Amino acid sequence: MAAAEGLQRSIGGLSEAAFRERFGTEEVCRTALFEMRWREGLTCPACGHHGFCALNTRKLFQCNRCKKQVRLTAGTVFQDTKLPLTVWFTAIYHLTQSKGGISSIELGRRLGVTQATAWLLKHKLMRAMAEREAKKPKLKGRVEIDDAYLGGERSGGKRGRAAGKTPLVAAVETTPERKPRRLKLTVVKGFRKKEVEKLAKRDFAPGSNVVSDGLSCWPAVAKAGCDHFPMVTGSGQQAARWAPFRWVNTTLGNIKTAIAGTYHHVSAKHAQSYLTSFAYRFNRRYQLDSIVERLAWAAAHTMPHPYQIITADA
Ligand SMILES: [Zn+2]
Repeated sequence: MAAAEGLQRSIGGLSEAAFRERFGTEEVCRTALFEMRWREGLTCPACGHHGFCALNTRKLFQCNRCKKQVRLTAGTVFQDTKLPLTVWFTAIYHLTQSKGGISSIELGRRLGVTQATAWLLKHKLMRAMAEREAKKPKLKGRVEIDDAYLGGERSGGKRGRAAGKTPLVAAVETTPERKPRRLKLTVVKGFRKKEVEKLAKRDFAPGSNVVSDGLSCWPAVAKAGCDHFPMVTGSGQQAARWAPFRWVNTTLGNIKTAIAGTYHHVSAKHAQSYLTSFAYRFNRRYQLDSIVERLAWAAAHTMPHPYQIITADA
């Protein structure tokens, strides 16, 4: 990996200049990917030998004993790509540095590729984000949960299910002082006890103290061994400002603003991917300096997802 010392760093993220200095050439990107995959050296998958020679300017490696060839990008998100790794790393940079994400039109413009290509890059990288998020521990301690719709507003306290709106549960693990630590955003089929129970069993550690409003589905968190603290909040604007849900509401507000500003429409099919990518960035908001390396590492350790799979799943 390129030496990071001496590069410009800031709490607000990685400057484009610093990024280019770190990942500006195909050679450094290949070296970085090699190190991420085979830090201990490459072992032949066929014969177990450790001696390899690099062919094709380090895109391909050949075992010195059995001549088995191993491709640098095989078995990663980058597999079979026709694009230079610099384009992928630049996509990683743009996807991770902006809080609201980036539309595929804008990403395509910055990368000099078509919108369709940018869309696919983004979705492949969002898969890598989702795999990392799925491996993180469950939320624990004090957890605030709240309901929301993507593409909709809560109005007058009514929580009707509207056409084209995607229901989701936002859960934030907070410090005892109610500062947010980690966020999970989950698309649900509806605000029903069964859905909440399933989500709580998957995402909340037993013994968590779950704080919610008075909606009738939330007591189901008890089925996951959580203690439930329902609060009576009223509704609408008043509820949104009420202290226990400040962070959930601020976060949800930011996400809705970002989605409205960046993406004109997020289909229900891809809503979870987008929400997970927001959570991924939020959960690494104090690691913006290393987030490019982190996502590149995740992409190097995520199996490839062909176009058909990305577009087919619900
Ligand atoms: Zn071999």
